[in-house]
Amino acid sequence: MRMTRRRWIADSWDEATASLTGEQASHLIRVLRAQAGMEFDIVAGDRVWHAVIAGITGDAVRFNLVAEVEADPALPITLLLSIFKFDRMEWAIEKATELGVDRILPIVARRSEKHLVQAAQNRLERWRRIARQSAQQSRRSDVPVVEEPLALRTAAHNKNEELSLLLAEQERTTTLRHALEEALASAADECPPIRLAIGPEGGWIAEEEALFDSEGWKPVSLGPRILRAETAAITAMAVAAALLE
Ligand code: SAM
Repeated sequence: MRMTRRRWIADSWDEATASLTGEQASHLIRVLRAQAGMEFDIVAGDRVWHAVIAGITGDAVRFNLVAEVEADPALPITLLLSIFKFDRMEWAIEKATELGVDRILPIVARRSEKHLVQAAQNRLERWRRIARQSAQQSRRSDVPVVEEPLALRTAAHNKNEELSLLLAEQERTTTLRHALEEALASAADECPPIRLAIGPEGGWIAEEEALFDSEGWKPVSLGPRILRAETAAITAMAVAAALLE
């Protein structure tokens, strides 16, 4: 079995080399006392390389890419996360990244609090940093994309080739697990990309549910108990990961 080396996400790269700068490089230089010749795994775009430190200049570490190693792709899941309390959203972004989410789409739902919606754009950079750090910590070979906050109407638009599931606590007949098992059983070869939508603390309003319905989303349940939005997001990711991996 191949040894898992510590994995770093390159800030820049070409066919043969990669560099780390900023926080990652300074951690590598000061805490791990990086020296030429030390070996690490480097994520460059969507590829992972076994790499050797070629040199350190100022606050940058340069690597030679030696051999490509097998990457573990993200799960084909986009998480539509209604904007809710930022500390809880951040937790959800971190944990969804650990669980393999591919894309996170913050959405403005009717019951998203106004002041949070106004502040969301300025949080984007922080959300992206959390996703990046969490990807690195969990040794992912890629960083999930955190999109710009979107109006629910735009985000709900369905492209048909996706399996779009609306997490709804009132749903009593179809569980998320059941919907995913059914989709996997009827998939010709691969499972279609999946979209999971999580409502804000106050839940979806009826018009939003009707809109999702008209766009072909299927309501699914995580069981009879009402979960907090961030718990619902992580539980949904974990159920999907358990079935897809
Ligand atoms: N409207 C609810 C209330 O106050 O009674 C609360 C909504 S819940 C805190 C926030 C979101 O988590 C929901 O919109 C839904 O997407 C998801 N959720 C929570 N519990 C769920 C469950 N048992 N099944 C499916 N989704 C759930």
